[in-house]
Amino acid sequence: MDQAETAGLAEAGALAGRFEEESSRVADRAAWEDLRLRWVGRKQGIVRTLLARTGEVPAADRRAWGQAVNTLKERVEGRLAELDAVLTEREREAVKRSAAVDVTLPGRRPLVGSLHPITRVNREMERIFAELGYSVAEGPEVETDYHNFEALNFPQDHPARDTQDTLFLKSGFLLRTHTSPVQIRTMLARKPPIRVICPGRVFRNDNDLRHSPMFHQVEGLAVAEGLTVGHLKGTLLAFLRRLFAPDVEIRLRPSFFPFTEPSAEVDVTCQSCKGQGCAVCSGTGWMEILGCGMVDPRVLDECGIDPDRYSGYAFGMGVDRVAMNRYGIANIRLLFDNDERLLRQVHG
Ligand SMILES: [Zn+2]
Repeated sequence: MDQAETAGLAEAGALAGRFEEESSRVADRAAWEDLRLRWVGRKQGIVRTLLARTGEVPAADRRAWGQAVNTLKERVEGRLAELDAVLTEREREAVKRSAAVDVTLPGRRPLVGSLHPITRVNREMERIFAELGYSVAEGPEVETDYHNFEALNFPQDHPARDTQDTLFLKSGFLLRTHTSPVQIRTMLARKPPIRVICPGRVFRNDNDLRHSPMFHQVEGLAVAEGLTVGHLKGTLLAFLRRLFAPDVEIRLRPSFFPFTEPSAEVDVTCQSCKGQGCAVCSGTGWMEILGCGMVDPRVLDECGIDPDRYSGYAFGMGVDRVAMNRYGIANIRLLFDNDERLLRQVHG
């Protein structure tokens, strides 16, 4: 063995030792990649550089040199493959661990939807009246002057017909200003006995903190033989005691509506102070809740119902006011702003 061959083999042996030492420190994929590039990288890799130097080795020693470098190359590649397998397995375990369900973590709560306060109050009113034998009647929101005013005994020059209150449409139609036209449509279509409630949206040219141009009413109508103010009062008392509390009292104050005679405003015991008097009820102990009256005989006649044989009563109230009262909402616009936070606040 000549000197050059000895030097070549010695160098290869030293490099092998260095590689073993370096590879023993590889702990992750980045270090493995560094090691691979340093030793068998295509450009600057140590093995590649050794092979490139083969031409400089004296012809007699080339065979031994080449064998030594190849032995080193196989060793490096073999060890890199082993390390690769170990790292791959470790990476697979890490993925498995991160995907596993940790049963000790707190659960994620799904967002629970809730009904709009108006819908809730509407449904409650419908449920109470259903128990009292009433069915639900509905009608169009775009109405004729006849159904909205004329048949309800509004004279031609009645202030409610003023454009300040009513939203007229170009076609000669209008947006109903109350749910009363549903009463007319019901009486025109059906024969007594009639017991219906008419919930729905109504429209007026009015917009401030307490008024919205669109709001909700529920009206009720009963027509039968022998109905009196006593039946009306008893029905309202039964309804309001179910809606608010079993011990509420009501009082009727004389009022005027074109389509009822006599007419009355109905007050109910203030729910904030239970009748003691507070800021909400201006110290009176009463809250104004609805309007009512006995159906005017002229309205019955207009709808083809004999007023000498039948009598009827009607009542109507704002759903929005009841909802605002119940859920402590001061601004009516909050009901229609579509702010999800309102729904969460009144949920449950
Ligand atoms: Zn009060």
